[in-house]
Amino acid sequence: MKKLLSLLLVFLFLLPAGGAALAESAETPAKDFVEISDLDGLLAIADDPDGNYLLTADIDMASVIWQPIPFRGTLDGAGHTLYNLKIESVGAETRVTRDGNLIPYDTVFAGLFSVMEEATVIDLKLVGAELSVESEEHCFVGLLAGYMYRCSIQGCSVQGRARLINHAVQSGIGGIVGYGAGDFGYCRADVELIFEDRNLESRCEQFMGGILACGLVNIEDCIVHIQGYDSCHGYVHNGGLVGMYYYCGMDVHSQSVRRNEIYGQISFFEDNPNRRAYCEPTLGEEMSVPGNYYSNESEFERNEVFTYDKVLLPEQCEEPEYRITLVSPTCEEWGYAVHECKTCGYSWADSYFPPQHTPGEWEIVTPADETHEGVREKHCTLCGELLTRENYAYEPPEPQATEIPVTVRGADTTETLGVVFRGSAQAMHAQDATGPLTWTSDDPAIASVDPDGTIHGLRHGETTVRYESEDGLFHGVCRVSVYYSFWQWFLIVFCFGWLWYV
Ligand SMILES: [Zn+2]
Ligand SMILES: [Zn+2]
Repeated sequence: MKKLLSLLLVFLFLLPAGGAALAESAETPAKDFVEISDLDGLLAIADDPDGNYLLTADIDMASVIWQPIPFRGTLDGAGHTLYNLKIESVGAETRVTRDGNLIPYDTVFAGLFSVMEEATVIDLKLVGAELSVESEEHCFVGLLAGYMYRCSIQGCSVQGRARLINHAVQSGIGGIVGYGAGDFGYCRADVELIFEDRNLESRCEQFMGGILACGLVNIEDCIVHIQGYDSCHGYVHNGGLVGMYYYCGMDVHSQSVRRNEIYGQISFFEDNPNRRAYCEPTLGEEMSVPGNYYSNESEFERNEVFTYDKVLLPEQCEEPEYRITLVSPTCEEWGYAVHECKTCGYSWADSYFPPQHTPGEWEIVTPADETHEGVREKHCTLCGELLTRENYAYEPPEPQATEIPVTVRGADTTETLGVVFRGSAQAMHAQDATGPLTWTSDDPAIASVDPDGTIHGLRHGETTVRYESEDGLFHGVCRVSVYYSFWQWFLIVFCFGWLWYV
């Protein structure tokens, strides 16, 4: 009974609290999501970094060099992809990062987002991302973000290459994020990471990881393919998943690292008499211990280089010659360019270009005539999709130059015109020819021709009479034979005979 009473008390105590919580959540207005379908929409995130955004299309970012921006909102990629993200500089924001001794460094960051705080990114893909940054300051880079604090990144994938050349002390490069704390779930990184330390004066703190370079995070159900290259004069902390797993002075607690798969290798050189050379398949160095740590699978190669004469890079040919193969886009898939070294076979893909249909010829739906517009369509020859449907105006057929036979009025032949000697004339007529005609005779001494086409036989012989219409569309020729008529022959013979007789 006592037990029952206490249960009832607990129930009564909980009821109003639960009711209040329900009422509160019902009153909280649904977050408005700004839809983004193009590059301008992405650029506008900078104007409201606290906003909530929903991608409604794949976006080609090739036309800009992206300037990293801070972000504190929600970005729902809805499975869409940002192609050709290109980053060449750090963002304006600085935050404090700490090394393994909690020494603070004012640090700059680069990535799609420079600094993410209490942000959520879900279902977003980056394909063909290229980050190449040289920094004089302490610097962390990642293709999605340079820095994150209390962020959640779920169901995102990142494919691309990142290179950091650093002249300062504290620096790192992560496939998805550079430095920080938060959650990664069901993410995928397929990345080539290159770090080059140009500071030979001090022993740098350098970090590299397929998901995160340095920090404390939940990482669950992620898949990493990493090719890492790390030339460091100092301390390296390299991991297939996370370079250094450490809370770094942040107010976050130990987290889970489980059910991840890591494939690839990191080649590194550590120039440091006080050698540490951390490089492990999952967590390079664990300075904080993950609460749950299990079921992480890896096929990972730690490739430490002891003799060093040049920066470690994926391409080691002195003068590499690349064969470029263009993979055409299809109706639905993006195309891209594959670059492959003819000698060593090193290759990468970039220059992604959007899906394209293959338009066919115009197909007439309703033919146009002199009084009505017609309707026509173009379909894709591959998938049959209707690409264009439009009204079109009637166009009279193009006139073409024609040769029209010349006839002589009242005569049977169109070939040869008989004209009697001297003073006799025949009218010529070009059938169907339009507009004024110009008549000429090749030998006006045999036969001349009037502007109206009347031919005059002048003496015995043959010549050609030609005509051309003023618009050039009609032209033709007519052979003309000029000869004596029977009575003219008779007269000539009679006259010669009489002259001979006298
Ligand atoms: Zn090569
Ligand atoms: Zn198509």
